Amino acid sequence: MSVAISIKNLAKTYANGFEALKGISLKVNQGDFFALLGPNGAGKSTTIGILSTLVKRSSGSVEIFGRNVDTHVYETKYDLGIVPQEFNFNQFEKVQDVVVTQAGYYGLPKELALERAEKYLLKLGLWEKRNDRSRSLSGGMKRRLMIARALAHEPRLLILDEPTAGVDIELRRSMWDFLTEINSNGTTIVLTTHYLEEAEQLCKKIAIIDEGRIIEDTNMKDLLTKLDSETFIFDLTENLDVVPELKFPDISARLIDQRSIEITLPADRNVNDVFLELDSKGIKVASMRNKTNRLEQLFISRIEESNAS
Ligand code: ADP
Ligand code: MG
Repeated sequence: MSVAISIKNLAKTYANGFEALKGISLKVNQGDFFALLGPNGAGKSTTIGILSTLVKRSSGSVEIFGRNVDTHVYETKYDLGIVPQEFNFNQFEKVQDVVVTQAGYYGLPKELALERAEKYLLKLGLWEKRNDRSRSLSGGMKRRLMIARALAHEPRLLILDEPTAGVDIELRRSMWDFLTEINSNGTTIVLTTHYLEEAEQLCKKIAIIDEGRIIEDTNMKDLLTKLDSETFIFDLTENLDVVPELKFPDISARLIDQRSIEITLPADRNVNDVFLELDSKGIKVASMRNKTNRLEQLFISRIEESNAS
């Protein structure tokens, strides 16, 4: 399988000295539907900016379909379609012209450019609006226009930065259907979002970024299992040399040091089972505490954020 994106040790320090990315590495395989999830300010747009070469990285390397973006500017540009977070098309241009002009930048002949504009404006429900000034579109329509524009040259890789921001629920669904369709036709898709629910519905692969670091890089199934479990630290009254074998296959135990064990259990399980089990093995527990993991903290801060706004 070919690798669509390979990022190694990417770091970005902005001119004001702010370290937005602190050395991230990521791999996206061809055909993936990949989510980069993280709260506001995590570094998602910075990462996308670097992929599109609009943001200059401080260090690290980027390859698109095995080609270095610095040495293969032209090829990698063709492989890539970017839907940025901010609307950046010419608002005075007509809807159709936004797509046709973009196709022109990629050297498509006029006829093919018009054909592509029709194809994608139709698919994205904007064909009726083709002669309107793009300024007059609603937020959700502008977002879809940016998708149509990014697809004008039919890139192998489509990267969308918060594609559903400002899009209402109903249209969001049709956008998801559209993205799912082009993914199943072979286009690799990477999107950023700060909604776990969105990534959960759409994406099979997921990386979580927080404060410029990748804190999870996994598939959706494993992530959900992890989110649905709880980890506790049991402090013991006596030293222990080996991890006890628990009779529950869904509960895992790990010795942190001789006086404490870390135990992870599914959310629907009662922690009392663990106490009883340890007790039956002659292990005495002095105290127990919740282990807050970084993932949990991320989602707690995310919830606080949305409550505050
Ligand atoms: P996200 O897209 O995940 O919300 P960004 O990549 O936009 O995050 O930003 C990451 C961090 O870098 C934020 O703290 C943001 O304020 C900061 N940042 C972004 N752009 C600049 C810039 N041009 N100069 C200084 N800091 C920036
Ligand atoms: Mg952003």
